[in-house]
Amino acid sequence: MVILGTAHGSNVPGKCSPDKKFHEYRFSREVINLLKPQLEALGLLVFVDMPGDEVPRPGNTELSLRCRYVNGICSKFGTQNCVYVSIHVNAAGSDGQWHTARGFAVYVARQCSAASKRLAKSFCDTAIAMGLRGNRSIPSERYWQANFYVVKNTACPAVLTENLFQDNHEDVDFLASPEGKAKIVELHRTCITKHFGL
Ligand SMILES: [Zn+2]
Repeated sequence: MVILGTAHGSNVPGKCSPDKKFHEYRFSREVINLLKPQLEALGLLVFVDMPGDEVPRPGNTELSLRCRYVNGICSKFGTQNCVYVSIHVNAAGSDGQWHTARGFAVYVARQCSAASKRLAKSFCDTAIAMGLRGNRSIPSERYWQANFYVVKNTACPAVLTENLFQDNHEDVDFLASPEGKAKIVELHRTCITKHFGL
């Protein structure tokens, strides 16, 4: 069981490029709309936590509902048969300016399972192999650990991917192109199918 997590919503402020042309919520849903049928074609059952553009507010309601949705699927199908991948785009600042940081990063919760770590490492290694490394240092474990609500409070193996930077010009140009979007889809398809031994 694959549960894909959309990022934020159209009614969440910020979360866009400084010129406001690129929106994280929209990119995440576009990637998921391309990725879901590809995973289903490989025989996987795919769920999406909040497919609609708007999300319940305030943020705590949104995040706890996302986790309740994921954990409901976990209890129905078995935690070890599920994986949660929340698909985001990073930002170096919140000042509405362009920044220089580029590249892919993946997060797990601080006290996470070995399966979460394995999946996160696979994401980082694959992203580097695909040329998405960027210009930032990468921890020796290959993933970052932070107690983001949705990875901390979901029962199954869970990662949060930060797919390049929405406040870097080059990254935004790449993500907005069909080739860039296809690469992010391919990255997720590769790592999720590998997780399930496909
Ligand atoms: Zn985000």
